[in-house]
Amino acid sequence: MIVYVVTSGEYSDYSIEAVFSTKEKAEAYKADMEWVGSEKADIEEWEVDTLRERRALEVGMTREGETYMVRKTLLPRGHEIIFNGKETLLLNVVATEEEERAVKVTNELRTRLIALSAWHYKGEKIPCPSCNGRGLKGEVLCPVCKGHGKILREELVNELKTVKETEANQ
Ligand SMILES: [Zn+2]
Repeated sequence: MIVYVVTSGEYSDYSIEAVFSTKEKAEAYKADMEWVGSEKADIEEWEVDTLRERRALEVGMTREGETYMVRKTLLPRGHEIIFNGKETLLLNVVATEEEERAVKVTNELRTRLIALSAWHYKGEKIPCPSCNGRGLKGEVLCPVCKGHGKILREELVNELKTVKETEANQ
């Protein structure tokens, strides 16, 4: 059975407001929350009475493939790349209770991420590809990185789009 959980907030602000048996009722409740200005109201679909495959192991691995941490955790959670001030590390949650399997799966993910050039973390700055990190395009400030020479990886796509649109409108 699926239930519809109306939530509000994010991270430490996150809370469950109400639980409904139909999506329509949940949406009506969410609309009422938005009427009074509640931010980040959301509806989550939860399957009730599921205990299966909740146990998992979280593996911490370096770019070179060294496992530095394995700890017990619960699903759901995926993977992320973090930066500890010195190096980038992969954290990955695998739905298993066997350490050997968790490490194997994480190692496969590690090689895949590196092969796809996807080994980067949220907040990472990369040299601006538009100006090759110089910050200048000829005599003017680079419109993509605005002269910084570096840009957040997740901002890059948006900035490139904005620049393209500006050029198209000129
Ligand atoms: Zn630039």
